[in-house]
Amino acid sequence: MVDVVIIGAGAVGCAAAMELSRYRLSVCVVDKESDVCEGTTKANSAIVHAGFDAKPGTLKAKLNVRGSEMMEELSKKLQFAYIRNQAMVLCFDKNDLGALEELKAKGEKNGVRELSIITGDEARALEPNLTDEVQGALLAKTSAIVCPFEMTIAFAENALANGVEFKLSTAVTGIEKTAEGFDIQTTRGSIEAKTVINAAGVYADRIHGMVCKTPLKIIPRKGEYMLMDKENVPTVSRTIFQLPTKMGKGILVTPTVHGNLLAGPTAQDIDDKENTATTGEGLAEVRAKGSLSVKNVPWGKVITSFTGLRAVGESGDFMIGESDTEGFFDAAGIESPGLTSAPAIGEYLCELIAKRIPLERKESFIDTRQGLIHFAQLDDKARDELIKKDPAYGKIVCRCCTVTEGEIRDAIDRPLGATTLDGVKRRTGAGMGRCQGGFCSPTSMALIAEKLGIKIEAVRKNGVYESEVR
Ligand SMILES: Cc1cc2nc3c(=O)[nH]c(=O)nc-3n(C[C@H](O)[C@H](O)[C@H](O)COP(=O)(O)OP(=O)(O)OC[C@H]3O[C@@H](n4cnc5c(N)ncnc54)[C@H](O)[C@@H]3O)c2cc1C
Repeated sequence: MVDVVIIGAGAVGCAAAMELSRYRLSVCVVDKESDVCEGTTKANSAIVHAGFDAKPGTLKAKLNVRGSEMMEELSKKLQFAYIRNQAMVLCFDKNDLGALEELKAKGEKNGVRELSIITGDEARALEPNLTDEVQGALLAKTSAIVCPFEMTIAFAENALANGVEFKLSTAVTGIEKTAEGFDIQTTRGSIEAKTVINAAGVYADRIHGMVCKTPLKIIPRKGEYMLMDKENVPTVSRTIFQLPTKMGKGILVTPTVHGNLLAGPTAQDIDDKENTATTGEGLAEVRAKGSLSVKNVPWGKVITSFTGLRAVGESGDFMIGESDTEGFFDAAGIESPGLTSAPAIGEYLCELIAKRIPLERKESFIDTRQGLIHFAQLDDKARDELIKKDPAYGKIVCRCCTVTEGEIRDAIDRPLGATTLDGVKRRTGAGMGRCQGGFCSPTSMALIAEKLGIKIEAVRKNGVYESEVR
């Protein structure tokens, strides 16, 4: 019997695993997909929100600000990309300047530092591509961007190094309360656990319903995006928001840590938890609203479009806590800013678990992680040295993003490594460029096939292999 089973290996589940691995506990993470970061965590704006948006006094506000404060140090220790690029919230009508002041006051109440209101001209001096319509902006200096895949993989790898077990390609199908805790039925046998953390994203309501009496409802809220090529784009260096509405933070235009420009998301409540299709109407809305903020957005240089699904609960706040079933903890309704808040949610879940299982710190806890080498970011001297040590780093596989065979081999070989093309892409960047994998996919597939001992035509873009590969 394990102490804690975490259902869901998204940002929240992996952060909880990492935080729990600081203690003398046995922890197991279960996910139905073959890789971590396959749910909402793979498709979002990737912003480390400063914390001015959430309603003061809510868990969302508290955990957003705490998560944002934790992120930079975590990025250094665990080696994932983090850029404190700042953010602006724009208003286009002088009558809305009061709303910007209210947002600033809300942020200050939440404990956000370094917020200021600037005029339209001051905003344009900082970001020359802002439109002439901008009348004023809230400037948030603590806002940042991350790579959500790299961040979540870093949390997972750190948790793994500290003894957490990962059961991927394993869907939870039922949960029974027992005298000692829980019997969790999965597609790969059952697991006994003293406590359960439900971090199943848009499916958190179904997991909750397997064992709890009080119902919980999660509505998927669709958000569509357009991602632009990194070459020759007139861009912005800060994240550019518009005044939020009751449906969320609105359409933003932002750089990514990989140097692309990203615009979106829309916000549309839907029924289907798997509907990640983009639509003509959605993308037209992204174009129209993005163009209100930023001039000359290179809409003709879109290299891909995608959709993320927010897990919207009924309370408007994160729903984190022990349910009506003793020992069963929900981390549900984790919509934006869930990515930012994830490490703080992990800490908070530790506090809650401590009420059921005494937590004792582990002296052997490793708080660092060796990230992947990114060849494109090295200078010539470092590249030469690397190639001397391992010639695979001298073979460029992805020409758009300068990713080498050495990086792809590392991504596949490391514990909890990639088993699919998307897994390679998220760890190395191969396939994320202009040609979207047109050139590098065959080589990446061959390397995956070699490692897994399967035929090249059996290699998958994503999803679970019929025969177990982990
Ligand atoms: C459009 C959009 C924009 C966003 N922008 C931002 C942003 O800029 N900044 C920010 O901080 N946040 C943002 N967010 C929010 C953030 O992405 C989420 O809060 C966060 O990713 C949620 O992580 P999670 O781990 O709770 O869920 P998920 O990543 O969805 O993970 C849940 C996991 O549970 C697994 N699972 C489900 N059912 C089962 C089962 N039966 N058995 C086993 N496993 C199961 C799934 O496979 C999945 O891997 C945005 C979200 C969206 C959709």
